[in-house]
Amino acid sequence: MQTNFTKAQLNEPKIARSNAVLRNCVHCGFCTATCPTYQILGDELDSPRGRIYLIKDMLENQRKPDAKVVKHVDRCLSCLACMTTCPSGVNYMHLVDHAREYIEDNYKRPIFDRIMRATLAQILPYDKRFRFAMKSARLVKPLAPLMPSKIRNMVDFAPKKIPVPSLNDKPQVFPAEGKCIKRVALMTGCAQKALDTDINDATIRLLRRHGCEVVVAQGAGCCGALTHHMGKSKQSHISAAKNINAWMSELNGDGLDAIVINTSGCGTTVKDYGNMFLGDPLENDAKTVGSLAKDITEIMIDLGLKVSSTSAIRVAYHAACSLQHGQQIKTHPKTLLQNAGFTVLEPKDSHLCCGSAGTYNLMQPEISKKLKTRKVETLEILKPDVISAGNIGCMVQIGSAIGVPVVHTVELLDWATGGPKPSKMA
Ligand code: SF4
Ligand code: SF4
Repeated sequence: MQTNFTKAQLNEPKIARSNAVLRNCVHCGFCTATCPTYQILGDELDSPRGRIYLIKDMLENQRKPDAKVVKHVDRCLSCLACMTTCPSGVNYMHLVDHAREYIEDNYKRPIFDRIMRATLAQILPYDKRFRFAMKSARLVKPLAPLMPSKIRNMVDFAPKKIPVPSLNDKPQVFPAEGKCIKRVALMTGCAQKALDTDINDATIRLLRRHGCEVVVAQGAGCCGALTHHMGKSKQSHISAAKNINAWMSELNGDGLDAIVINTSGCGTTVKDYGNMFLGDPLENDAKTVGSLAKDITEIMIDLGLKVSSTSAIRVAYHAACSLQHGQQIKTHPKTLLQNAGFTVLEPKDSHLCCGSAGTYNLMQPEISKKLKTRKVETLEILKPDVISAGNIGCMVQIGSAIGVPVVHTVELLDWATGGPKPSKMA
């Protein structure tokens, strides 16, 4: 695609990066075939190619975003299915992230949207606030039918059960069982710590059992993904910088072989920290941290699974977009589950998003619901005993609409290698 940025514009690193992304696009439209919003809405402007045109025009002309551009960019899930499909290697993620930041800085949203976005940004990345918000939401749930749809949707999001905080999520070092093969940092995250403490607990057991010393680093917390995808770059950079400093201090101290992440949405962001900090004094450290970041399934494939008991239950594997498209990790979770003795099933159209997508299910409830219904139908038809996924957002989204337990892949791997049966399957 031809672009016409001025030399002065191209001196700005983010514009130069977006220019390179745009120039790779050859308008072929292959990406439209796998874009969930295009499939649902049928509007070219809700396809990757349509959004690319809108973003190009906005950035090139330094145009103030209008409601039309904002609507179509907001409707994008950042599922990145288009990146998997694109034959020209267009890095749509960097382009849409730039657009979201530009919109946040240059567009005044309606008052309700501003309040809602600011509230979500001040609650979701902080596990204590999030826990408090979910408890409050549960109290007002009986009044939900009387509330406006977007608030009702947030209240409905609160799960029936909110776990007590896990002591394992506090900064500490867990020694390896037996010979220490690797020293790894575990990113314990933010919202996940409030929604499901079993995931980090199972991850720590699994890693220790396979010869890893596990560090929960002092000062590490939210990866910044939730606010990054809202275009709130200042807030996301503050969160990310805390992680970079915390993990660099571990790396420069007792050393680190990897930073293990068990929430694939976060993993996609941490792996891309180098780009997030483009032109920033922290850029080099951000790149180092990004190169150390590994999804838990990458680490377990590397370590090899020591299976101690097998159970031939039927596991439907849901591929989170951030894992299959964002990180291009497609086979590891299935291979590990099969090696652990489970019968692994895959739903039809597994490339399509479940509609969770960070805060998308709260901000675009209608589209999100359609995607959820579609995903749940394709999973139910498999008649699984359990559904496994590698991202808490997908687990909550699918779990809210299906009568089958939804667990993290790591909980099943922990069970097969000597850990307890996942509590949701009890
Ligand atoms: S598939 Fe790639 S090159 Fe083709 S229109 Fe989509 S983004 Fe552009
Ligand atoms: S990220 Fe997903 S929703 Fe957004 S344009 Fe790409 S395929 Fe469509």
